Amino acid sequence: MDLIDSFGASRYDIHDLELFRDAVTPAVKRALAPCKVVRLAKGEQLQDSVRAHLYIVLSGALGVAAETAMGEATIERIAPGGSVGEQSVLDDAANLDTMTALEDTELLVIDADLLWQLIDEHNGIARNLLRLLSFGIRKANAMLRRRQKLGEFYRQLSLNDGLTGLYNRAWLADMLPKLVMRARKDTTPLSLVMIDLDHFKRFNDTHGHILGDHALVTAAGVIKDALRPSDFAVRYGGEEMMAILPNTGAQAAMLVAERLCSRLRDATVFTDMRLPLPHVTGSFGLATLSPEQDELALIAAADAALYRAKQAGRNRICS
Ligand code: GH3
Ligand code: MG
Ligand code: MG
Repeated sequence: MDLIDSFGASRYDIHDLELFRDAVTPAVKRALAPCKVVRLAKGEQLQDSVRAHLYIVLSGALGVAAETAMGEATIERIAPGGSVGEQSVLDDAANLDTMTALEDTELLVIDADLLWQLIDEHNGIARNLLRLLSFGIRKANAMLRRRQKLGEFYRQLSLNDGLTGLYNRAWLADMLPKLVMRARKDTTPLSLVMIDLDHFKRFNDTHGHILGDHALVTAAGVIKDALRPSDFAVRYGGEEMMAILPNTGAQAAMLVAERLCSRLRDATVFTDMRLPLPHVTGSFGLATLSPEQDELALIAAADAALYRAKQAGRNRICS
């Protein structure tokens, strides 16, 4: 960083600077005249001392990099007339952002003491500074909102199965205990249907894995579409899925399971009309939460019922 001039002796015009807009008086000019103008070569970093300064870009451009929580850096470009360091001056803390010249850049350096003096003596400058800070806060808020949305997106991603879009095991581990607790507390019924596609290994062996994947997506769609908005569809494992039915007793759950079973039977996986239905079937195990059960016991009961449905010849429901 080279010192090249005092502001008073430089070629720059104070009227071009945001901070002094409509606030230029002979006294302000006099106060700024001895301030330093420094030059940064392209790529050079601005080394801020512990003592805070305000930097106003006179020519060139400054890149301010802020590290985000996810480790990547966002770079904001400060063009001539713009400034950095207002906040550090106001709260008396060193600037932690990395500032790099994006091209050969000249900066006006204003001491914290002088800036405070200008704020005290000139309303117009105080007002401009408030406006600049407000812009900064607005920008920071927008960035936070973007980051929050991104976080929600990744959270969503981590709770849904990539192939079928159904909830995954991580979601189940988090949510099923809560649903069980809620049912207990409200003394409402809770039912669970465990679903396993029939002879799916044979399906894959006969038609190939890609069509197998397609059949899984189709089955997941059938299940999701047949449920109420208050129900949940989960991919439990490979070709095993689960429907969680809050507020649903054994009888009503049986009707739901029957609907799922028959809709799956009617679902078309192949576009080739010569292949007769059903293209895919499932076996269903139904369990309804009893007072002594926790979520694991509920899953075990549904699993046992599913096993009986397989034993009894598949493409059916047991409870
Ligand atoms: P059953 O009627 O007794 O359930 O027989 P099954 O063949 O369905 O049961 P098994 O557990 O022997 O085989 C499950 C098959 O599901 C094996 C596996 O290749 C297939 N599978 C699991 N996940 C996927 C997947 O994501 N895509 C495809 N295409 N196949 C899968
Ligand atoms: Mg299975
Ligand atoms: Mg199976």
